[in-house]
Amino acid sequence: MRSSLETTQSGPRLPIDIDTVKGFMDPAEGRALYDAALACAPRGPCLEIGAYCGKSALYLGAACQAAGGVLFSVDHHRGSEENQPGWDYHDAELWDEAAGAMDTLPFLRTTLRLARLEEVVFPVVGRSALIARVWATPLSLVFIDGGHTLEAALADYRGWTPHLMAGGTLAIHDVFPDPADGGRPPFEIYQRAMASDLYEEVLAVKSLRILHKL
Ligand code: SAH
Ligand code: MG
Repeated sequence: MRSSLETTQSGPRLPIDIDTVKGFMDPAEGRALYDAALACAPRGPCLEIGAYCGKSALYLGAACQAAGGVLFSVDHHRGSEENQPGWDYHDAELWDEAAGAMDTLPFLRTTLRLARLEEVVFPVVGRSALIARVWATPLSLVFIDGGHTLEAALADYRGWTPHLMAGGTLAIHDVFPDPADGGRPPFEIYQRAMASDLYEEVLAVKSLRILHKL
């Protein structure tokens, strides 16, 4: 029997071809996310901010499934600033004509259905800060990959890290120490976490940082 824990040189064995899922997750970063979730998931639910079409959810969700855990995947599904028409990361296929807005939720659902992860990954649709405010379940892993404005990144950090259990994992995507490589807000919340003395860095893979909450 094929074990879901099996990994190949290119990363964990996933239920569907990762290249068929639209998104912004490098394979090496995805593998690190998978390993982090595999270790955390037995202790409590994992949660990501920024589902988009389910690329990171596929890595995290496959690990949660292997570990007998679950993943909540938060997104308002209207896209970040850079996903809007006229911006660099706009994808016209994700435009909902009737809504006059982006809608990535149908794509996430298709990813989860094809990957048979609907009993493991639970989409939570809405603005991250509003959901964080009423959230009450301790989390074993929080992955911040939502909006890149300072307001959104700070709201994610302030809103979700209090729900992270001691010994849990905080992962942050799009951390670019050199401003020439990308926007600063994810780097700023990473710096804030490191300055707080509540976290120690365990891994840096490309723009992904994985921190351990003490
Ligand atoms: N993790 C994804 C990429 C996420 S892109 C992958 O692996 O491909 C960032 C996502 O964050 C977008 O889908 C956008 O809709 C969402 N987002 C941005 N700001 C948000 C906010 N304030 N609340 C909820 N979702 C938000
Ligand atoms: Mg990202």
